[in-house]
Parts: sequence; structure tokens; C-alpha cells
Amino acid sequence: MADIETCDSTTNGFDKVVLQNWSDNEDRNEDGAIPTSNEICKRILGIDYMDEPEEAFGCVLFDSFEVSQKYGIPILEDPTGSYKKLAHSLIEYAYNKGVEFRFCSEDELKQDGVAALYIPMNNTIVISPIDLDNCTELQAFIWASDLSHELVHCMQLEQSHNMSKEEEEYEAHVLAGLSIAWILTKDITPEELRYRETVRYIFDGVEASSKYYYKQLDIFSKRNR
Ligand SMILES: [Zn+2]
Repeated sequence: MADIETCDSTTNGFDKVVLQNWSDNEDRNEDGAIPTSNEICKRILGIDYMDEPEEAFGCVLFDSFEVSQKYGIPILEDPTGSYKKLAHSLIEYAYNKGVEFRFCSEDELKQDGVAALYIPMNNTIVISPIDLDNCTELQAFIWASDLSHELVHCMQLEQSHNMSKEEEEYEAHVLAGLSIAWILTKDITPEELRYRETVRYIFDGVEASSKYYYKQLDIFSKRNR
């Protein structure tokens, strides 16, 4: 792994990311509001997760494998497998794609409102450091999820164009967040409710990431008026 360096949140290049990703925000509602979690689900899957949770769950499960295959990003297909091994595979994948790593403390990333960040200008992923020889499987799991989310954004730049921000975030969240969502909802019964809450978790993430993005755009455009 690359050397750990300190991240200065004021110079992390986010403005440049925002500038490069500028779009017409065509997915905003007519009143300019960003669609909510279930509205985004209806637009992307054509399904209302409140009315048809099982169908929506089937779609997100299918899509998580589809996104993995589309970009060749490794996922843990065997739930009893090792997340540390997955993390190593993801790091290898990243290096093969020429991705640079820049390490930032979790606190610094939180100050920026993110868990990790992809900077397209220099093909860099900003993420917290991890010691995979001495961390827990849970820590490796969360770290690998954050990394795979950013790797999806990295590959979108190379392979997928003309996607709305919501579609981009859906791919990233469905690949990186489905296992976490399924684990977090493990105590929810009956199963139909667990399906609904799992799908809701994914699309809540899409909504939050899209809102964050549009907020940064607004800040950026006001600053440059
Ligand atoms: Zn994202």
C-alpha cells in the first residue's frame, strides 16, 4: 500500500471533482427538490419498494452481481468467506487500474461528510488507513465496502457515461452496501419487512449521496459566481 499521508481537507481536490462531474441535474424534480429514496427506486427499478418489497429486493440482489460483473470488481459471494481477503483483492484490483491511495483519518473524512472519496482528476481514492494483518473481520468488511463503492465511481468514469448522479450512486451503493444492509436488518421479521428495509437502506444511501453531491455543487457554484 502507498505511504500514509495526512489529508488536508481544504485541499483534497473536491472542488475539481465537483467541476468535472457537473451535470444538468436532470433528475431533480420540477420544483428543484432531489427525489426521495423511494422515488429514486421507482425511477431506477420501476418498482415501489413499499408496495412490492420482494420484487425490489430481487432486483437489487440481481443488480449487485451485475455491477460486479460489469466492472470486474470482486465481491464476497460466499458469506462465510474472509473480508480481509476481499480487501486485499480490491486493493490489487485498484492498483491494476492505476488507482492511487491517499489516506486520511476517519475523523477528517467525517468532517467532509464522507466515508471515502474518489478524485477523478488524479485517479485517487481517499480513504482511512487500515492494517489488514491486525484488524477485525468487521473492520475489514466496512473498509472493503467503502473501497468498493469508490472503485465503482472510478470505473464509471472509464466505462459508463451519461448516467444521472442517482444512477451512479445506485451502482455504487448496490455493490458496496447490500451485504451491510442485509446484516443490519437480520432481526427484522417477517421476511417481507426485511426485504423492504434492506432495499430502503440502499436507496436511502443513494438519496443521501446524491443530496451531498448537489449540496457541494451549490456551494461550488455560489463560491464561483
Ligand atoms: Zn458514491
